[in-house]
Amino acid sequence: MKKIILAVGAHPDDIDISCAGTVAKYIAEGTEVYYLVLTNGSKGSENLKISTKVLIKLRKKEQQKSADFLGVKKVFFLNFVDGELQNTPALRKQIVKIIRRVKPTTVICWDPTLFYDETLNMVNHPDHRIGAEAVIDSVYPFARNARTFPELLKEGLKPHVVEELLIFNFSKANYFVDISKTIGKKIEAISCHKSQFADIAKFAERIKMMTGLMGQKAKPPVQYAEGFIQIILRKPA
Ligand SMILES: [Zn+2]
Repeated sequence: MKKIILAVGAHPDDIDISCAGTVAKYIAEGTEVYYLVLTNGSKGSENLKISTKVLIKLRKKEQQKSADFLGVKKVFFLNFVDGELQNTPALRKQIVKIIRRVKPTTVICWDPTLFYDETLNMVNHPDHRIGAEAVIDSVYPFARNARTFPELLKEGLKPHVVEELLIFNFSKANYFVDISKTIGKKIEAISCHKSQFADIAKFAERIKMMTGLMGQKAKPPVQYAEGFIQIILRKPA
């Protein structure tokens, strides 16, 4: 079966930061990739001179630009309020809808259990955790369950079984994608999010450092890798 990837992030830029190297690599191999952004990114600027409306528009444009650059088929924006994401039936229904429409074999999302990472001195954003929890819940069991959101059946959106979850965590992984050839594309994709990075060169160095560390964990080691926790989901008996 042909591989189809749905990569999900809470904010515009999340997907590119976590897996643009993998996305670029798979697209080059002929895989269809779709993006799903859960929130409108409305909190993503400390510059109060930019109105919220303008910021939302700008961030969507930046995400679309990076997706176009990488060759992503389509970007879905759910427009939930940035910073207020909750794992509700309303959010899960929208995610299930996209899963049943796109019919991905693989879903990529952040690790909902990643609260903080002391090795990288970082605390994770609540939308990343909560959004990822809603994504995993949607993959299993709700997207495959005919009795969940029966109104979707009337729209022709039949249950869909996702075969593989690739869960992104900055330092934990059991599955590595060698992105040594696509690290440039990853940095270029991240650079599209101009509103998010005052010093893109500095951030690019951090990305190289982190994907370099992940590359060392790969077997055999590679120069740059994106790492995931891979879960192969069982098909219904
Ligand atoms: Zn984010």
